[in-house]
Amino acid sequence: MKTNQGLNTICVHEGDVEDQTYKGAISPIYPATAYAYQGQEDSAYPRYFNTPNQANLAKKIARLEHAELGLIFGSGMATISSAMLSVLKSGDHVIVQNQIYGGTRNFIKKELENYSVKYDFVDLNDEKAVEALIQPNTKLIYLETPSNPLMELVDLKKIAQIAKAHNLITMADNTFATPINQTPIDFGIDIVVHSATKYLGGHSDITAGAVATSKTLIEPILHKAQNFGGSLSDQTTWLLERSMKTLNLRIQRQNKNATELANFLYHRDWIEQVFYPGLETHSQFDLAQSQMSGFGGMLSFKLIKEISTTAFLKELKLVKDVLSLGGVETTILSPAKTSHSLLSDEERQAQGINNQVLRLSCGIENVEDIIDDFNHSLKHNLT
Ligand SMILES: *Cc1c(COP(=O)(O)O)cnc(C)c1O
Repeated sequence: MKTNQGLNTICVHEGDVEDQTYKGAISPIYPATAYAYQGQEDSAYPRYFNTPNQANLAKKIARLEHAELGLIFGSGMATISSAMLSVLKSGDHVIVQNQIYGGTRNFIKKELENYSVKYDFVDLNDEKAVEALIQPNTKLIYLETPSNPLMELVDLKKIAQIAKAHNLITMADNTFATPINQTPIDFGIDIVVHSATKYLGGHSDITAGAVATSKTLIEPILHKAQNFGGSLSDQTTWLLERSMKTLNLRIQRQNKNATELANFLYHRDWIEQVFYPGLETHSQFDLAQSQMSGFGGMLSFKLIKEISTTAFLKELKLVKDVLSLGGVETTILSPAKTSHSLLSDEERQAQGINNQVLRLSCGIENVEDIIDDFNHSLKHNLT
């Protein structure tokens, strides 16, 4: 393997499945569920996560994340649940970043409880608070950076240092940043997880997940994954591979669109606040520059209270008011009504999420057309 290849080359070529029969330019699909017997452990089978398509795509993700090995899953939550339960057993304790994806929060509160795993949510940038929570049974620190929806960052290096001093494993959800903008393993994080449903898939048409980590830590994850059975079909694995060929191109464009939109919104008098790590006014801009090579396609903003977010969304023609994120099309949603609707009012308040907050997932369109769409909706709502 060449180590000095550029990101576009890695996205296009790493983990190609060679077409040995016809020498075609792309990976063939191997949808078989029955392969030659080579011993119970080594025979290929989709739920063993080791078919040619699964195993090769895992190489692409591992290389992008600067990890030794990877695994492809049927969804982000299949990944996160398998990875967490590979580290945590009954009686253990996990420390979790305050602001995380709603589904992960639900998994921790609803499922880990059943396994008698204890948890604490905390602001991971508050070092003293984190240290105070560490107990003899603490095994894992779990985080997301940038966080959903207000783009708060966690200092990866600092958290990894604290964890190592106490022999804890760190796990980071890198869905928002993608390995193009941030490689947590370089800062000492042990395990990286992804909802590939978002940027890795990138076209709002695939549900998948991925993990990237060391040879040692992947073993227990693989065993959990095989027992829980959250594997991805080879057809979809192949589609994800095709999508990832353009990952770097898409992300560079989404970074650029998000930066331009963040700057545009920042200067409007109908906007109260913009949350984007690439803005100099972001409270963690220095940290963003030190651990991110690009600032991502996600941003949030608060409309002034004179404008109803419902009315603003209703008048948008190009930007779609839909769930999910990370596609080539620009999408928008109200976190209070969607991704964070399961939180209590107090929990939302504590996280600074009110009804005026909208979360934007920037696509690859011409940014002027997005700005036109915003201006059009605004004209309807201010007159
Ligand atoms: C969507 C998402 C998940 C869950 O992924 P699924 O593919 O929907 O299971 C996890 N983490 C983050 C940050 C997400 O955005």
